[in-house]
Amino acid sequence: MRKVYFDYNATTPIHPEVVSFVKPFFNELFGNPSSLHWAGRAARVDFEKAREQIADMIHAKTEEIVITSCGTESDNHAIKGMAYAKRDKGNHIITTTIEHPGVLNTCRYLESKGYEVTYLPVDGYGQIQPEDVKRAIRKDTILISIMYANNETGTLLPIKEVGEIAKDSEIIFHSDMIQAIGKIKIDIKSLNVDLASFSGHKVYAPKGVGALYMRESLDIDNLIHGGHQEAGRRAGTENVIGITAFGKACELVKKEMEDENSKIESLRKKLLDGILEKVGHVRLNGHPEYRLPNTLNLSFEYVEAESLLIALDLNGIAVSSGSACASGSTEPSHVLLAMGIPPEACQSAIRFSLGRGNTEEDVDYTLSVIPDIVNRLREMSPFYKR
Ligand SMILES: *Cc1c(COP(=O)(O)O)cnc(C)c1O
Repeated sequence: MRKVYFDYNATTPIHPEVVSFVKPFFNELFGNPSSLHWAGRAARVDFEKAREQIADMIHAKTEEIVITSCGTESDNHAIKGMAYAKRDKGNHIITTTIEHPGVLNTCRYLESKGYEVTYLPVDGYGQIQPEDVKRAIRKDTILISIMYANNETGTLLPIKEVGEIAKDSEIIFHSDMIQAIGKIKIDIKSLNVDLASFSGHKVYAPKGVGALYMRESLDIDNLIHGGHQEAGRRAGTENVIGITAFGKACELVKKEMEDENSKIESLRKKLLDGILEKVGHVRLNGHPEYRLPNTLNLSFEYVEAESLLIALDLNGIAVSSGSACASGSTEPSHVLLAMGIPPEACQSAIRFSLGRGNTEEDVDYTLSVIPDIVNRLREMSPFYKR
C-alpha cells in the first residue's frame, strides 16, 4: 500500500544529508564539548558551528542562541524565566487562547503560583488584533507571549505589530516560532522580539533538541541549574548529535526553503481544490491567505474526525485531528473552539500538513480515495441527508 505522510507539523523525518553529516558524532567525535583535550575540542568546534547555523537561519547573533532540549523547554524557559526575573516589577502576562500547550500550560502553572494571565481572544481566522494587545497592557504587565504561526490551522499572527507595541511599552515579548521556522523567512531583528522558541524536529532535525533566541543583554532567570554550559544560561552536557544535526538542518532548509515551499504550497492548493471539488460540505479553517504554505485544516461536516483519521490511516495516509498533543482525547481543539467554530465542525476537523517529502502522486492518491471514505462515513451519520 502507498504510504503518504501529511503530518509534518507533528514531526518531520530527518533530512537525508543531515543523517550522513551527523554519523561521525556517534563515534569519532564523541568528546564532551566542555573538556579541554583534543576530543572535547573537536566536538566543540562543530557544536559552535551549529549554533552559527541556527543563528543564521533567523538572522540573529550567534551568542543570542541558547540550545535547549526541545521546543517545549524553550517556551518554559522564556516564560517562567522572565516571570521569575521580573517578579518585583509585576505579575501580569499576556498571551492568546490558541497557543501550543507548551505556552498555555506554562501560563496556567504560573497562575497557580499567583501570576495573572490575560488570554487574548482570536477572530474567526484565528488572528488576534494588535489593538487588543495594547488594551490588555497594564502597569504590572511583564511579558507578552504570542505565537508566530499556529500549528493547527497554519494562520500567521501579526507579531510584527505586537513587537512594536511591546517595544513602545517596554514589555518583554516572547514568540513561539516553532511552526514558522523553515516555512517562512524569519528576520528576528525586524520583528522586535526579545525571546523566540524553536524546535529541531519540526525542521528535519531529530527530536529532543531546541533553541531559544534571547536578545542580547536580556535579564532572565535560568530554568536548569548546574554546570556552566551555554554561557551559564542552560546547564547540562550538550546533546552534540542533536545540536549538530539541528545546525546542519537549518543550513540546508535555509538554502532549499524557497523552492521547497513553493512546491509544497502548490501541492497544498491542489489538495484543497481537489477536496472542494470532489467532496461537498467542507470548510477551510484558518486564514485563507495569511498562512503557512504547508498547512490545511478542513472540517468535513457530518464526519467524526477520529473516524476519518482512522479510515485514511487504513489507506496509508497519515493526517491529524487537532494537534498531536491533543489527539488521543476526543476533546475538540481549543484552537478551533477559540475561533468560534461550532463544536460539531471542530469535531470533524482534519489537519493535513505537507512537507519536503510530498509529491504530486501523494495528492493524486489522496484525492482518489478521500471522496469514497467521506461518503461512506456520512452514510452512517444520522444527521446527514443527501
Ligand atoms: C511542536 C511544537 C511545540 C513543542 O516542541 P517540542 O520540541 O515537540 O517540545 C511548541 N509549539 C509549537 C507551535 C509546536 O508546533
